[in-house]
Amino acid sequence: MKLGLAVHPEIGTPAAGSPWHLVFAEDLPDICAAHGRDCVERRAEQLTFYRTRRGGRPVNLLRLVLRIVQIWRLNSVARTYPDIVLHGEWPLCPACLVPARIYRAAGTALIALGAVNIVAVVLMVAAHIRPPAWLVFAIFPGWLPLGLLVSMSLFRGGETFVRARIAPDLRAADIVSHPRFDEAVATAPRS
Ligand SMILES: [Zn+2]
Repeated sequence: MKLGLAVHPEIGTPAAGSPWHLVFAEDLPDICAAHGRDCVERRAEQLTFYRTRRGGRPVNLLRLVLRIVQIWRLNSVARTYPDIVLHGEWPLCPACLVPARIYRAAGTALIALGAVNIVAVVLMVAAHIRPPAWLVFAIFPGWLPLGLLVSMSLFRGGETFVRARIAPDLRAADIVSHPRFDEAVATAPRS
C-alpha cells in the first residue's frame, strides 16, 4: 500500500547533508498494518532508511556494515547515520506487540551475557587466574562489537512494526500491509 508522505512540520526541509524527517500526510487508520486487526495502542516510533538509487531502504545490520566498509575503503563519503527518518504513530494490535517483547528480551539477554563474561574475566584477573582464550575471544570480538551490534538490531527489530520502503522522490512510502488496513485507508475521510 502506498501512503503519501510530507516533510516533518516541526523539523522542515533539512540542511545539505542532514537527514530528511518525514511524516505520513494522512493519519494512519485504527487498524494495524501487519495483521489488519483493530488497534489497541498507538506507538510513536521512528523508522530509519538509507537513500539508494531505488529510494529509501530500511537501515539494518547488513546495510550498516556495508556503509562502514564503504567508509573504511574511502571510496565513498557515506555516513552511518540514516538519510531518512520516518516518524509515525503506529496502530498496533496485540499480535504486533508479541515480537517486540521477544526481540527486546533477546537483546537484553545478549547484553546481560556479555556483562557476565566481562565480570568473569575481571574476577579471574583479580584472582591471578589466566582467563581462557575462548572467554576473552567471546568478549572481543564476540561481544564487542558483534554482540552489541546484534542486540542493537534486535532492539530495532522489536520497534519495527511496519516494513516500508520510501520512493526515490520521498513523496510516498510503500508499506507491507494487510487488505483490511488498505481498505481502512481508502475509506478514511480526507483531512
Ligand atoms: Zn497487528
